[in-house]
Amino acid sequence: MQWKRLVAVFVLMVVAIPVFAQTTEPFDAMLQKADAARSSDPKRFAELMEQLRADNRQITRLQRDKLKYLQAYEVGIYGDQLAKGAEMAKRLYDETGDPSIKYRAGGLVASFSAINRDLSTGLRYLQKAMAMRKQVPDIAIRHEGMANGALLYGEIGQHRIALRYADEVLADKPNERMRCIAGHHRLVSQFELGALPAQDGLIQSVVDQCAKQNERIAANIARSILARKFAADGSPDRAIALLEQMLPEVEATRYPRLIAGVHALIADLKLKLGDVKSAEEHAKMTVAMGEQIKSSATLVSAYNTLYRIAADREKPSVALDLYKRYAEAEMAHQSDIRARELAYEIVRHETKQQAAQLALERASTQKARLVAGLLLVMLGAIVFWVIQIKRHQGQLQRLAQTDTLTGLGNRHFFTQKSERALVDAARAGDSAALVMFDLDHFKAINDTYGHGAGDWVLKQVGKTCSAHCRKVDYLGRIGGEEFAVLLRGFDLAAAARLAEDCRSQLAQIDTRESGYSFVVTASFGVSSTAQSGYDLSRLLSHADQMLYRAKNEGRNRVCAYTAETAAEYKTPKRSPSLTVINS
Ligand code: GH3
Ligand code: MG
Ligand code: MG
Repeated sequence: MQWKRLVAVFVLMVVAIPVFAQTTEPFDAMLQKADAARSSDPKRFAELMEQLRADNRQITRLQRDKLKYLQAYEVGIYGDQLAKGAEMAKRLYDETGDPSIKYRAGGLVASFSAINRDLSTGLRYLQKAMAMRKQVPDIAIRHEGMANGALLYGEIGQHRIALRYADEVLADKPNERMRCIAGHHRLVSQFELGALPAQDGLIQSVVDQCAKQNERIAANIARSILARKFAADGSPDRAIALLEQMLPEVEATRYPRLIAGVHALIADLKLKLGDVKSAEEHAKMTVAMGEQIKSSATLVSAYNTLYRIAADREKPSVALDLYKRYAEAEMAHQSDIRARELAYEIVRHETKQQAAQLALERASTQKARLVAGLLLVMLGAIVFWVIQIKRHQGQLQRLAQTDTLTGLGNRHFFTQKSERALVDAARAGDSAALVMFDLDHFKAINDTYGHGAGDWVLKQVGKTCSAHCRKVDYLGRIGGEEFAVLLRGFDLAAAARLAEDCRSQLAQIDTRESGYSFVVTASFGVSSTAQSGYDLSRLLSHADQMLYRAKNEGRNRVCAYTAETAAEYKTPKRSPSLTVINS
């Protein structure tokens, strides 16, 4: 049976333990619960943090940062390690990419540092966090941070700033609890600034709001402010009645500053009304809490009350001792105020300097941008200018190459292109041919129908012959009424056929469009590389010879420079045998 027990243990280890260790609850829900229990339910918070830490599911960056925030809180508040908690929050502040977590982490550093009396660090982070408040989408998180800001600014005596944050929250549709919290911060700032509302009802409404939300500390801070107002308005009895009535609830909060503050206030008022015994009791209760409320105005007030009682009782040695304590408390309180003011001034100065630095950097960036912009404009202008020049050059070049009347290449362009084509053809071993033609009796056309009609004919001739040429052929007007085409890859016969086509097309030009009816003819001479070689001037010369032969033969015909012709021209004594393709 031993093995069965072993199997059972194994199954328990493998299956059951992970089931117990791993909760099926979504991680986010657990984080949210821990966050909610954070200040209101420390025991539940500790349990939830244990669970979150033990959870070994894969978590997102955001979840990890949320957990880090709660851990920093836990270490600072419950672990009693404010400095360590502040360091953890600082690291999180630097690392996180989420604005809400950054805002909360900054607020945590501010609170922990302030409690730890590292005021300048606290203020620095408080300023950073407050500057981010507009980027925090969750209204509750935003308000929580701002209420914290109001509290901390109040702590360092910057009541105007505290009031501004409280007012901003109240104007931003806060929830019921936040209406109490921000409302009581507002009252505290107003009290410190000597600007309490004239109507008691306004203070009472904050008390009621906080009581409704079960926010006892805030409710009783508001009540004690109301009591101070009663006293200042000449009703110390009313003030004492209120303070005594609230005292049990105040003591239940276990918040030393509030408890001591209420006792000190009762002591002061009782003494004013001549109830020395009660005054002494309350003042002694305040002093008993001295350790927890060091360097506060409350302690100063309690020692002052006790000293006055001793002086009235004519107990000089006791009075002197209490006076010493009163003076010490007052000095400690004053030096504390100075320290807070100094910290505030230092941070304010730093912030100003940073802002000035930022403005300087911005200005220099702007300057750099301006210079870059100018350079860009200049570059643009240069590019535009270069393009214009290029375009202009192109136009000039085209003008220099083109015959304006017919749009064909001029003699210069024809010569240039043909020479290059002949070099290429020679290198490739390709044949090439040249066709040259001259209009017949053109002078007569000019003379009979006018120069305009002559020009019209020249244009028509250009168009008609272009239609017979390929893109690779160069057709040019090489003289007044003389044209030439270089035909790459053509032998003599092919070139003569093309010339013949052209000749017949020219003869068919309908001249009525010019206003007159007449016939246009031309005489053609053809030469080829097979007979004349690749030298353009030789090809031209031989084609020209054939052209004049065509003229002589009666015009409107094509003559080609054949091998026989070549022999004939070399031996001019023999009568030339003409190759007349057409007559
Ligand atoms: P042939 O048949 O012997 O070639 O006689 P032709 O009259 O054509 O020859 P000629 O050389 O005697 O005359 C050429 C004429 O071409 C003279 C000139 O006025 C005319 N001409 C030259 N260029 C132009 C031009 O651009 N426009 C016009 N309308 N006539 C031109
Ligand atoms: Mg002519
Ligand atoms: Mg001519």
